[in-house]
Amino acid sequence: MNIFSLPQSEQEAIKFLQDKGILPKRRVCANGHQMNLSIGQRVQWSCMKKECRSSVKMRVGNWLEGSRIPFVTVVRFIYCWAWEMSSVKFCERKLGMDDNTSIDWSNYMRCVCVGYLTSKPKRMIGGPGMDVEIDESLFTKHKSHAFCRPSGSLEDCAVRRRSVSWLRLAAS
Ligand SMILES: [Zn+2]
Repeated sequence: MNIFSLPQSEQEAIKFLQDKGILPKRRVCANGHQMNLSIGQRVQWSCMKKECRSSVKMRVGNWLEGSRIPFVTVVRFIYCWAWEMSSVKFCERKLGMDDNTSIDWSNYMRCVCVGYLTSKPKRMIGGPGMDVEIDESLFTKHKSHAFCRPSGSLEDCAVRRRSVSWLRLAAS
């Protein structure tokens, strides 16, 4: 992937996020029926069974719950962040994100990486003749996982790990 092959539409961005395991590809309603995904002004799953007719928004129950920026902006932001192009000014001018939103999203990304690193077995870093620089901010313990995802609630580790493996793909 490079910057010119990033998704161009909500449809493409949603498919991309589904393929990377960030968004679900299927969903069943409370009564166990397969739901259909519709992508329009609203992006939601709907049960077409007459007795149900229930619907649920795409972002419910996954890492994007609580977020409001378009899916295409999510993908573009994560790509840019992975390449260290996520200054407030850049995000505002190129991605249409306001100051608070880009700062929040940078925090989510950092939290994903911290989650990934802390989930791995501890091992020694550095070696003879090597200088090791530590970013102390990575070791700050938050009182909660409030920064981990847009909703500010706890996320499950599996989703977090999948997010990181996707980040690596995006950055490669
Ligand atoms: Zn149903």
